[in-house]
Amino acid sequence: MRKKAKKTKLEDLSRYISKCIYCQKEIYSDHSFVALVKTLEPITHVYAHYQCMKDDDHSRAEDKTFEQHNY
Ligand SMILES: [Zn+2]
Repeated sequence: MRKKAKKTKLEDLSRYISKCIYCQKEIYSDHSFVALVKTLEPITHVYAHYQCMKDDDHSRAEDKTFEQHNY
């Protein structure tokens, strides 16, 4: 039996996206990352690892716990 040829799709390739605004490390397209709108006119984006953003949200949520408990 012949082995199936493994095709490399463009989406599978790891492409450099940008620097993470939180950890300042490179983000590649195969990472989980998010694009955040930085300015609206003209529209520009900043990029962050999904995990970095989550960690940041979490630390900000912790700061607010004294005034908001039901989130
Ligand atoms: Zn990061």
